[in-house]
Amino acid sequence: MTLRLAMLGPPASGKGTQASRLAERHDVPHLSTGDLLREAIAAATELGERARPFLERGELVPDDLVLEILSTRLDPTAGFVLDGFPRTVGQFEALEVPLELAVKLEIPQEESIRRITGRRVCPDGHVFHVDYDPPEEPGVCDLDGEPLHQREDDREEIVRTRWREYERLTEPLLVRLDGEGLLVRVDGTGDPDTVEQRVRRALDQG
Ligand code: ADP
Repeated sequence: MTLRLAMLGPPASGKGTQASRLAERHDVPHLSTGDLLREAIAAATELGERARPFLERGELVPDDLVLEILSTRLDPTAGFVLDGFPRTVGQFEALEVPLELAVKLEIPQEESIRRITGRRVCPDGHVFHVDYDPPEEPGVCDLDGEPLHQREDDREEIVRTRWREYERLTEPLLVRLDGEGLLVRVDGTGDPDTVEQRVRRALDQG
């Protein structure tokens, strides 16, 4: 069996960065429900239109919508690194394929807000930070030359709502995962290479 892992953690804990590195190393798909939802919104699909107001407010999208969008991409016979899913007990219970492990990246709220307010993304989802990981030319993606912008939900007041949603809906899931022996906690502070080393060590031990 290949890797079946979920990467969890509060906003801007580094889920996307670490999930994509892990997926590449284990040669399995990286599935980010946040990215899938933003793609659906950009393409103005019916599902995207239904999800849009929740993302704009920083609230979790209802489970049925998220499950619908994930089911279009999740191949139950292949491994996966899920990024930002499951985020509720209901989503966890609805997963047809059992998770092998869930990694929780831990960072303090103030660090999360520092990371988010400087975060810039290109239309293809490549991520930079004005101080920690600046592009060579300000406002332009190094990888494809597209203009960089701030994610709509990266404004500070929306970020605080995203944290409240995390505490209200995802923390109970973390308790459940811990009870089932599936949860590994990793310190998410520091640069991406340092965090990657910690994740690798945690997986070797888990
Ligand atoms: P972050 O974890 O930094 O908030 P994401 O890109 O993972 O960023 O998620 C952005 C938004 O997408 C969330 O605030 C929420 O509205 C929606 N979303 C993503 N994944 C889920 C999920 N599993 N369940 C419900 N909503 C989700």
